[in-house]
Amino acid sequence: MKETQAAHNLTWIQEEIDALKQAGLYNHIRTIDSPIDGWVTIDGRSLLNFCANNYLGLANHPRIRQAAQQAIDQYGVGPAAVRSIAGTMTPHVQLEEKLAEFKGAEACITFQSGFTANLATIPALVGRGDLIFSDELNHASIIDGCRLSRATVVRYAHNDVDDLRQQIASHTDYGRRLIITDGVFSMDGDIAPLDKICALANEEGIMLMVDDAHGEGVLGRSGRGIVDHFGLHGQVDIEVGTLSKAFGVVGGLVAGKRSIIEWLRQRGRPFLFSSAMTVPDTAACLEAVTILEESSELIDRLWSNAALFQEGMKTMGFDTGHSQTPIVPVMLGDAKLAQRFSRRLFEEGVFAMAISYPTVPQGKARIRVMNSAAHSHSDIELALDTFGRVGRELDVVG
Ligand SMILES: *Cc1c(COP(=O)(O)O)cnc(C)c1O
Repeated sequence: MKETQAAHNLTWIQEEIDALKQAGLYNHIRTIDSPIDGWVTIDGRSLLNFCANNYLGLANHPRIRQAAQQAIDQYGVGPAAVRSIAGTMTPHVQLEEKLAEFKGAEACITFQSGFTANLATIPALVGRGDLIFSDELNHASIIDGCRLSRATVVRYAHNDVDDLRQQIASHTDYGRRLIITDGVFSMDGDIAPLDKICALANEEGIMLMVDDAHGEGVLGRSGRGIVDHFGLHGQVDIEVGTLSKAFGVVGGLVAGKRSIIEWLRQRGRPFLFSSAMTVPDTAACLEAVTILEESSELIDRLWSNAALFQEGMKTMGFDTGHSQTPIVPVMLGDAKLAQRFSRRLFEEGVFAMAISYPTVPQGKARIRVMNSAAHSHSDIELALDTFGRVGRELDVVG
């Protein structure tokens, strides 16, 4: 009797899952049986990989592998504590100092991921009675961080500084105020007008936070990120970033004024209540920064691959949206078409994910192509060839 009732309580889950499948919105998760690189092995086949945020090919870079191995020999694996109790080890401090210097910021704090960096930072800066102005396309971790803070969230139109100005003018009842934007928007590859947003924030005396997860290692001198790209050092209060994308490892960071970083060490809940980054992760990230400081070769190759791909797609008649970065959305509209397109690419040896609602708005499904320095120009030519063939087969291009 009890068992039947329990089963009945959960039938809604199966109904929801079936509905997702019906609508072409069910996420089929592939297992990769090789290192993450330009090519990956899935189900025993080698495929060209256009899904990873591995912009610079660092996820399987020999120097990064070696740095992680050496650190394990010296320090073991896990800190076995939260940072604030007994989990801060020398590699953590070295990484934070190196990142602050790299980004031209006064100080830096690291977290387990970019997601937790946002969950830590936003509620530490604003609370009930305060106001957050948030770009309508901001990342889920920003949205969740805003919810956790209990501040009032005012969404402004995507990258629209005039709308932001109007929203600021029409919300006059507040305690503290914070503007938050993604640096590079992950599903479209466009860049926030951070110079204009920064000028407005300064004019109005509002705190400014940018989440540069997709700009880290991609934009700016040697991948120093969006603040460097716009030359805004010292003017953007909080720069959030991730070590899980271009850096090829895992982890999150916040760079900014010393007082803010000090405050996050006291009040950032994932810092206080969730264990520290592991030793090999930390050492690998440190090596990644060193590689970026030494040469721009990987970044140059990334941008050259991205340009080659985007030009080729446009020439064939594909709609690649408004991308300004190595993220290239191949706009298809219909979610089922996007899934079919991705499946056909997969069969033809190209791994590129279909992205649909709720990650992007309804009717804006796409294949999202992530370019990488791990590809050669002939890899890109091969991908273009495959996209063209599948595109003609599915009547997306003529
Ligand atoms: C990917 C991403 C994150 C999350 O970073 P993780 O390190 O993977 O947790 C946060 N913000 C933005 C804008 C992202 O694109």
